[in-house]
Amino acid sequence: RAKADGSGCLRFFEPANDTRMHERRVQEIDLRRAWAAREFELFFQPIMQVTTRRLVAFEALLRWRHPERGLIQPDAFIPLLEEIGLILPVGNWVLSEACRAAMLWPGAPRVAVNLSPVQLAHGGLVASVAAALEESGLAAARLELEITETVMMKENPATVVTLERLKALGVRIAMDDFGAGYSSLRSLQRFPFDKVKIDRSFVAGLGQSQQSEAIVRAVTGMCVSLGITSTAEGVETPEQLLAVEKEGCTEVQGFLFSRPIPEGQVPSLIGALAAGDDKALLRGRGLL
Ligand code: C2E
Ligand code: MG
Ligand code: MG
Ligand code: MG
Repeated sequence: RAKADGSGCLRFFEPANDTRMHERRVQEIDLRRAWAAREFELFFQPIMQVTTRRLVAFEALLRWRHPERGLIQPDAFIPLLEEIGLILPVGNWVLSEACRAAMLWPGAPRVAVNLSPVQLAHGGLVASVAAALEESGLAAARLELEITETVMMKENPATVVTLERLKALGVRIAMDDFGAGYSSLRSLQRFPFDKVKIDRSFVAGLGQSQQSEAIVRAVTGMCVSLGITSTAEGVETPEQLLAVEKEGCTEVQGFLFSRPIPEGQVPSLIGALAAGDDKALLRGRGLL
């Protein structure tokens, strides 16, 4: 039904749109409840150095353990967390939790934390990162912050200033999902990232398309020229590992080594990766 709103225009109230608004409102209430009830958890996925096959870092990945729906992946709720601003307290919690967890890990691997563009745009980020380091006692050099190019797209000079202040704390800054968007190269020009994570869509094409091989080779070559690290995301098979090694990637991350695992399983996975314990590795891959 259409209804005049007094401005000479007709406004349409479609039932489908109404239902969507209602669902969003219900999910928002559920998310606020979940935050208060501490239903968020961090999982961790190992990142390996290619040449030595040794563990160098873990990426912290957010999960929602819903009392009725079970474990929910971040793509299903982070956009709404961002929309309603709840990503700010949740993001600060992720930073603190990741630093606290990393303090307990044998061998002192680094920990990588994903940052939302909303966190980058908020004035309190540098203080939050500094506080997470301070409270946990983690050395800044062990913390890596991952951002996507959407952060850089607005060409806001304040963003680069924030990144520079973060870098001045001693943390490393990585560009996530490199190549997946339209302005990855432009972003690299605007800020001296320490690392590029090659989007897994390119890794998936290795051994299947010459284009993917050429692109991965070009990106790793560029990283060498820039003197920065390149990480291949989404390495699932031994063939892909050999391919990214051949193209010169510095680090790899993917189901081949382990799926993201709960914090409690990290110490045993560290042991298994060091010892080449196949059973524990298969468990990490969800194959056992
Ligand atoms: P991302 O930062 O690019 O994280 C890598 C994603 O790839 C993870 O998905 C991981 O489980 C998945 N992955 C890793 N290896 C493989 C593989 O071999 N094959 C395949 N098919 N997938 C692989 P996840 O955990 O669902 O996270 C999705 C995205 O959600 C992340 O992408 C990141 O952008 C966002 N995210 C996760 N945690 C946080 C957080 O704490 N804060 C913010 N702002 N974003 C987060
Ligand atoms: Mg990431
Ligand atoms: Mg990524
Ligand atoms: Mg991603």
